[in-house]
Amino acid sequence: MIEEAFTRLYPDREFDFNARIKYTDRFNAYGANVKLRGDNLEFGLSKSWRTISREIRMGLLQELMLKLWKRRSKKDLDTTYIDLYNSFVKNLHIAIPKTKSDPLLSESFDRINERYFLGFVEKPNLVWGMPSKSSLGSYDYKTDTIRISRVFEKLAGKDPALLDLVMYHEMLHKAHKFKHNGGNNRYHDRKFRTAEKAFEDYDEVDMRLKKALRSRGLKSLLFG
Ligand SMILES: [Zn+2]
Repeated sequence: MIEEAFTRLYPDREFDFNARIKYTDRFNAYGANVKLRGDNLEFGLSKSWRTISREIRMGLLQELMLKLWKRRSKKDLDTTYIDLYNSFVKNLHIAIPKTKSDPLLSESFDRINERYFLGFVEKPNLVWGMPSKSSLGSYDYKTDTIRISRVFEKLAGKDPALLDLVMYHEMLHKAHKFKHNGGNNRYHDRKFRTAEKAFEDYDEVDMRLKKALRSRGLKSLLFG
């Protein structure tokens, strides 16, 4: 299946890898990744993929291959399977029951999910938190809820990246099951910080965030 996915995507390239798929419990539902070491090509798929059709899984493998070898122009690619995969993932999101949401938070979540998580993070409840509370955002495992300070309702109109950065931070807690306990810094270990800095222009956006909070007298607000 891997070779077929590869050859359909890159008809001009030779397939010379030791390739395999490993189904694991390591991911959230429908999570996946790919690693290439030397000529060992390993796809890690969450077990939830096992029962999904071969065509959609081929699309998933191709999507991961495009990540690995960077995207050429999609014009000259056969994207049949990728398209199948994408509509599957989209429908998955629709199927997840959401009892609490908000358009502004939802849009931010979708942007970050597409961009940094391949669309794999299941949408949690998304709610605004009181500005008086001491955190910019938080993630609660038990209720699967991301709570973002209402401060961002206004800030996001001027600079959406500020909201996106906080959303990204909370999504890291959810996606990678980083331990978390209401803003206690020891849960933001080095691994977490490294992942956090993958946010585009992290330093610059973080600076703009601090500045915006300072100018509103909110500099005591911390990441939860
Ligand atoms: Zn945190």
